[in-house]
Amino acid sequence: MAASNVAWILGNQFVTENRKPIEFTSHRFLIDYLADNHRHKTSKKSSQIGETMCELLDDFHLAIHKKLNVIHTLHTNDVLKGFVRPKVDPIIQHNPEIVRHMTINSEGLKQFRDNFVFFRGANAESQAISISADVLKIDEKDRSNPSVVEMFESRLDFSEYRWIREFSNPSAVGFGVDETYNRSDQRHWFIRCHRCNYYMYIDYWQSEGDKSHYVDTERAIFACGRCHKELSTADRCNGEWVAKYPTRDEIHGYWFSQMMAPWFTAAEIIDKQENKSVEFFYNFVLGKAYTPADMIVDRAAILRACAPSNIMRTQVAIGVDQDAGGQYYVAMTPQGIFDHGYVDSWDKIEHLKLMYNAVVVCDPNPYQAIPKQMANKYRDWYLCYFKILDGLSSVQWKEAEQVVYADRTRVIDIRANEIVNARMLYRQRPHELEDIIAHWNNLYRTTEEKEDGRVRSIWIKKEDRQSDYPFAEVYARIGLAQVLGGGATLVEGTSGQEPKVTNLTGGDKISVDFSGILQETMSEFDE
Ligand SMILES: [Zn+2]
Repeated sequence: MAASNVAWILGNQFVTENRKPIEFTSHRFLIDYLADNHRHKTSKKSSQIGETMCELLDDFHLAIHKKLNVIHTLHTNDVLKGFVRPKVDPIIQHNPEIVRHMTINSEGLKQFRDNFVFFRGANAESQAISISADVLKIDEKDRSNPSVVEMFESRLDFSEYRWIREFSNPSAVGFGVDETYNRSDQRHWFIRCHRCNYYMYIDYWQSEGDKSHYVDTERAIFACGRCHKELSTADRCNGEWVAKYPTRDEIHGYWFSQMMAPWFTAAEIIDKQENKSVEFFYNFVLGKAYTPADMIVDRAAILRACAPSNIMRTQVAIGVDQDAGGQYYVAMTPQGIFDHGYVDSWDKIEHLKLMYNAVVVCDPNPYQAIPKQMANKYRDWYLCYFKILDGLSSVQWKEAEQVVYADRTRVIDIRANEIVNARMLYRQRPHELEDIIAHWNNLYRTTEEKEDGRVRSIWIKKEDRQSDYPFAEVYARIGLAQVLGGGATLVEGTSGQEPKVTNLTGGDKISVDFSGILQETMSEFDE
């Protein structure tokens, strides 16, 4: 009984945190998944299909009966408050078979003689230090901090098992579990129509190529992909996993959707399609990745928004993002972006600021001292902090403090939209935009489900990649709103029109002086 996790769960009549018995009749799709001892498993899954509960019981089975050490990570900042207390501890309490084996029960660590299960947050790097294990479970991978997840993966280096289980509601196309699933053998839950024997997986819309089973929205039924008659609940329960690429053995990939779960009716799923956002419907109901077309800032979008031209360098705003090595800047006017680069000191940003009489908006973190000095020195140098803003405004100026608060998702959305719709153009040559293209490629938009169940959109950086230029663009764009007297909203630029004459008397002369300095410094950077 101890050998199989499913037999162990059934044999001991385990119950959920709400004391409901755990059964596999309607969760048949979890049986083979749980029994699969492959080294690397990935699941892209809808919500409410029972996988998290089973993973948790499997954690304890691995520690008690397989004598393996498990790290189970979650994306919540407070893993104890958000997961261990409301979910893990009640399950342990209600199931004496787990309690019986437990030797240490602290909040983040459950120990069973020589083996343990650790619960850790995958958002703070400090949480990954100095634990090693045989099995890593990355719960909600798509909402976890990718570099922290990587650190946890390194904690398996000393084990002969090095098992990885990653499971998550998917997010954007090509990222997170969608990316690993695409590399896997891509298992689909195949079900047989009891009327015509047609054997296929089920999707919401019938795919052209595969002629999948589907949801018939007119009749509000699950329909057979061949005879188009109604699939019964028994049909949906009695499936089996079929790999699309059985020869790919590195990763076993599972796709769980609410359509496989017999307790969801077709009418309920149709209702969600009609009343929830597209992203929510894909990520949380279909268990599929989704990226809206107008939020994909890729090479093609950037090149479409590229119209090289020598624009007037007046009404300039400079945005600056910083990292440990230096400052990424973007300089723009209402007619578009005419310069960008990476410099190794704030002095060089100051040169640019003086040369163009520019408004500067910068990221004050992680190194605050010099940005703050600059803000003291110049009245039009602002520090930008991200903050979720109520109402519809995307930015909020605190003029007296020279601080601007920006709603991170909204301001990146605005800039992404401008690129995709070819407004606020890039005025440099296409080959000069390679670094900008690369940085935008590392940033993607997805949805995140909050603990209160609400869903919000968020831009996430790819694992260990840079996306400083998009942020510098966003800061510049906020600065431009200030240049144009925009206040709370990001004002449209006067693209295509002659910009207003600035009040900088003798500006030309000053420009010449500083551009000389700049030419020198720039040639140094080229080396
Ligand atoms: Zn049929």
